Amino acid sequence: MAEKRDYYEVLGVERQAGEEEIKKAYRQLARQYHPDVTKEDPKVAEERFKEISEAYEVLMDKPKRELYDKYGHAGVNSQFQGGGFNWNDFTHQGDVRDIFGDAGFGSGNIFDMFFGGGRSRGPHQGQSLRYDLDVTLEEAAEGIKKELTLPLTVKCDACGGTGSKSRKEETCQQCGGKGQVQRVERRGYSQFISVGACPKCGGSGKDIKDPCPECDGGWTRKRQKISLDIPKGVDTGMRLRVSGAGEPSPDGGPPGDLFVVINVKDHKIFQREGADLYATQEISFPEAALGATIEVPTLDGKKVEMTVAAGTQPGEMQRLKGLGMPRMEGYGKGDLYIRLKLVVPKKLTAEQKELLRKFEGGDGSKKKLFGRSK
Ligand SMILES: [Zn+2]
Ligand SMILES: [Zn+2]
Repeated sequence: MAEKRDYYEVLGVERQAGEEEIKKAYRQLARQYHPDVTKEDPKVAEERFKEISEAYEVLMDKPKRELYDKYGHAGVNSQFQGGGFNWNDFTHQGDVRDIFGDAGFGSGNIFDMFFGGGRSRGPHQGQSLRYDLDVTLEEAAEGIKKELTLPLTVKCDACGGTGSKSRKEETCQQCGGKGQVQRVERRGYSQFISVGACPKCGGSGKDIKDPCPECDGGWTRKRQKISLDIPKGVDTGMRLRVSGAGEPSPDGGPPGDLFVVINVKDHKIFQREGADLYATQEISFPEAALGATIEVPTLDGKKVEMTVAAGTQPGEMQRLKGLGMPRMEGYGKGDLYIRLKLVVPKKLTAEQKELLRKFEGGDGSKKKLFGRSK
C-alpha cells in the first residue's frame, strides 16, 4: 500500500476542524463507501471505508488526536491493539448505525457483513461492552483505583464451560464443528453474504445432548469484580479499555473489550475547563476597596491565602498557578481561577449607614449620590 495519508486529508477537513465538522465529513464519506450504496470497486471501497474510519477514530478522540497532531501516525499506532488500526479499535459503531440504521447491519459485529462476504474469516472477537462510570472531580484529580462489579459472561463452573452436564461434547452436524455457516440475505436491492454463527450449535461447533442446567452453552452471566486504575486528570468522555473483559467470542476467538467511559460529576465549588478550575469567592466591599488577604478553597480540601489588591472590581478574576487539575497528556497542572464576587450587605447598622454616607462625600441625599457625573 502507498504511504499512509494524513487523517485530515482523508476526511477532507481542516486541522482545526471541530467534532461536528469531522462527524459531517465522516457521514458523507461513509455513505459514499459503504457497500450498500457504493459505486466503487468493493475492494477499493473497503479500504477507503477502513481508512476514513481510522481517521475518524483518531480525530474524534481528544488524547489520540493530540498525539497525532504532535507525532503523526507513529504517535497513534501504539494506541491500537495490534500496533495499527483494525476494526476492533473502532469505537464509533453507534455512529455508523446512526448513519445507516440497524437494518443495514446484521446481528453481531456490524462489520462482519462488510468484510465477511466471500472470504474465509478467522474466529471473531467477542462483543465489546461499554460501561459508564461516574467519578468525582476529586477522584479525577487524584487518580483512583476503582473496583467495579459487573455482570459479565464467563465460563460456567458447573460444566467446566462445556455446556454439557456430563461434559460430553460431540461435533455439530450442521456446521461440521466450525461453528459458522454462510448466509445470503437480501435487503432491498442489496445482497449480503455473511458468515454467522451456526444456528444449531450457536457457534460452539458442538452438539450437546445433555445441556448443563446452570448455563447457556457453557457460558453464564455472573457478577465479576474488575479493578480499574483511573489515571490522574481524566475528563468526561475519556474511554478506558479493559482488554478482554467484554463478551466471549461465539467461535473461539478472543473476547471483546470493556470500555469504561468516564463521566466526571459536577462539583459544588469548582467548574472545570480542561486542566483549569474555576471557583467563585465572595468578598466584601471594604476588602475589595482596601485590599485584603483572603482564604480560598482548593480541590484538595485545604485553603490557600490569596491577596486581593486594593481597588479590585466586582467579577475580577485572579489566577492561582498550578492549583488546577493534573494534565493527562504531560506534566504539571492547570490553574485555579478565582472569580471575585462583591457582596453588598443587605442590612446595615445606623453607624455603618452613616459611614457610607460620609464615604459618598455628602449628607446622604439622593441628589448628591447620583449627581456626581456632571
Ligand atoms: Zn454449565
Ligand atoms: Zn453448528
